[in-house]
Amino acid sequence: MAFERAVVTGGAGFLGSHVCEALLKRGTRVVCVDDFSTGSLDNLPDDDPRLGVAVMDVARPLDLLGDVDLVLHLACPASPADYLRDPIGTLKTGGFGTLHALELARRKGARIVVASTSEVYGDPLEHPQRETYWGNVNPIGPRSTYDEAKRFGEALTSAFLREHGTDAGIVRIFNTYGSRMRPHDGRMVPTFFRQALAGEPLTVHGDGSQTRSLCHVDDLVRGLLSMADADHAGPVNLGNPEEVTVLEVAHRIIAITGSDSEVRHVEPMADDPRRRRPDITLARELLGWQPEIPLDEGLRRSFDRHLVG
Ligand code: NAD
Repeated sequence: MAFERAVVTGGAGFLGSHVCEALLKRGTRVVCVDDFSTGSLDNLPDDDPRLGVAVMDVARPLDLLGDVDLVLHLACPASPADYLRDPIGTLKTGGFGTLHALELARRKGARIVVASTSEVYGDPLEHPQRETYWGNVNPIGPRSTYDEAKRFGEALTSAFLREHGTDAGIVRIFNTYGSRMRPHDGRMVPTFFRQALAGEPLTVHGDGSQTRSLCHVDDLVRGLLSMADADHAGPVNLGNPEEVTVLEVAHRIIAITGSDSEVRHVEPMADDPRRRRPDITLARELLGWQPEIPLDEGLRRSFDRHLVG
């Protein structure tokens, strides 16, 4: 579908900036709404007249002039290091921010895609996770500020759909990696790259047998835009079903960087899920989407661009 003008909240962040770029390539005019708490202007092209940037906190009402036919709501700190630093702010962004993005879409009559997360499944008792699984979340643990805000965001999106008929869709994004992740943002892939490139030990929490499913950002953005083009409400899982242990990721990054670093095991993280793997049957059926970039190739692409290109 050809959208004329899209609003991307969190558009200066890791995922958001790739989304802005992909939309601009499709010929869509883009307004990036961001408070630059974890995002950066450096992530955005500085010479595209079809890109506008609005410095705004989505926890405050969003007032934008002109027509908008698509809202992609991504604004929210996503790295545990970021959201653990600002627990109440994260709840406000996840709660009020999603409310304001939904209100904007409703006022403009736009399609909205809300970025939820695999964290809504918590430490899952069902494996792999299908969209029908309600999750196993600790509502008062340190990570609950993020997980519960996202669950609230899903409830709010569903309420807008039921009460106002808003054209809204929810995607549950699983671990995604690629260029423009900040080396110090605390997430596994950029942390391992930073440590490997500095010749420092790669810190693995616990014994490293916990699994993750890592999706390359180019695949993820394709999935997000397919959801924008569709008229489904979701929720739809977007992620790579190839499951890999954290220890395996550390060793692959050591090999790709040619580093002499070793692995150092450190304390397990509180409420760190043991296993994570999306069931993407629904995304395949509804969107015709599945990831195409194998982990080794994706890690190499990230390395080639030093995670910031
Ligand atoms: P990121 O931290 O790189 O980007 C978040 C962006 O939102 C940043 O540009 C930040 O400045 C902006 N932002 C934060 N709070 C804001 C506020 N109150 N008002 C305006 N802007 C604000 O994170 P990311 O990895 O790009 O994640 C983007 C979205 O995708 C988030 O909603 C996150 O929950 C979701 N998600 C990401 C992953 C992943 O693996 N990257 C996994 C699951 C879900």
